Amino acid sequence: MRKNFWLVVGVVVWWGLGAVSGVGAQGETAVFPITQNQARLDFPETVTFAVMVAEDVPIVSAVLTYDVSRVSCLEAAAQVPVEVVNNRAEWTWVMSRSGNPPPGATLWWEWTLTDANGRSYTTPRQTLTFTDDRFDWRTVENERIRLHWYKGETVGPMLLESAVAGLKRLEDEMGIQLQGQVQFFIYGSSAEMREAVLYIQDWAGGVAFSDYNIILMGVPPEIAESWGRPTVRHELAHLVVEQFGRSCVGGHRPTWLNEGLAVYAEGTPDESILSAIEQAREQNSFEPLRSLNGAFPAHSGAANVAYAQSYSVVAFMLETYGPEKMQAFLLKLAEGESYDEALEAVYGLNVDGLELAWREAIGAPPRDIPPTPTPISPDLIPTVPPLPGPQSVPTPEVIADVPTVPPPSSGRPVVCGLGFIPWVLFGVLMVRPGRGRKRE
Ligand SMILES: [Zn+2]
Repeated sequence: MRKNFWLVVGVVVWWGLGAVSGVGAQGETAVFPITQNQARLDFPETVTFAVMVAEDVPIVSAVLTYDVSRVSCLEAAAQVPVEVVNNRAEWTWVMSRSGNPPPGATLWWEWTLTDANGRSYTTPRQTLTFTDDRFDWRTVENERIRLHWYKGETVGPMLLESAVAGLKRLEDEMGIQLQGQVQFFIYGSSAEMREAVLYIQDWAGGVAFSDYNIILMGVPPEIAESWGRPTVRHELAHLVVEQFGRSCVGGHRPTWLNEGLAVYAEGTPDESILSAIEQAREQNSFEPLRSLNGAFPAHSGAANVAYAQSYSVVAFMLETYGPEKMQAFLLKLAEGESYDEALEAVYGLNVDGLELAWREAIGAPPRDIPPTPTPISPDLIPTVPPLPGPQSVPTPEVIADVPTVPPPSSGRPVVCGLGFIPWVLFGVLMVRPGRGRKRE
């Protein structure tokens, strides 16, 4: 009797195991003899994936799964069923339909294959780094910043040094840390840079892909010192602040804050900033701060004052109240609070109160807060087409072979929740003595 009991248990266990592992043929996992598994990049147009299995395992279906590594609120890999012909599957991702990831981005892929017996096998994940192989890139880096360039012997080291100094200022004086490593790709001209990005405005001199921690800039060696240096710091600041306040709940920041932080990160303000502040103070011509929440004026003189004023307000906030409050303010905004609510919560002031405190600190007369803020016509503001992800930086105007066409002026003004505000500073920085170039 006892012997029969164990016999019964044994049969049940055997059946149970059979059911759990799957089986028989259906759904069984196996390792298939892969004879080819590759992704071929034709940058920036296509990526062609191909997989092939040895003939003795006849494949009936293939599903490609791939994704590009990036920070995103919606993480979803693409899955593509691909026809199998002669035990081989091939599929091409045509990036002209989707927009292309930037150089330096990394893609992973795997194939899930099923054979005629119903067994399936998923290949180990493989990766591919997007490279723009038109140029012989050189790289300088430290542990935080990788900078690639190919034109001008001293350009790479010079711009890396500038980026490192900018990052130090962000971290020391604002307490805002870069997350991960950022990559710069410094093209020898804005035209060469634009060829690396499908769907880019023909005026763009730089593009920031903040989801990828990657910034592309076109920096001709002859303006690397004058335009490249401050612009690298400015763009890096936008990216780091964007990371710090990254939000999936729709939080955004006022333009004066974004641009003020970025100009602050450039380092000691140049003469043009200081003289614009001084002049506006003497003439009592600052804009109401509230009117700088959104788009900056398109008119170059007014925009110059807007940048200078934004810098001055941010410097006042950092130097008077400290970096911790700035961080708290950025995080409140990321949570989706309004500008006034976030300021009240952290500083006990709304935008108007902050403006009054700042005016007093710099010796400007108090301003009567108008009942309705002065709006700036959105029609005047050049905008960026809604390419997801990257945001563009205008090309510096001083180089003869660089187009100086302004961006289109229709559509909604993009107040850059992503940190980059591309439409500003057209014709702005070029009026600044000493710097003579615009950036975004
Ligand atoms: Zn900016």
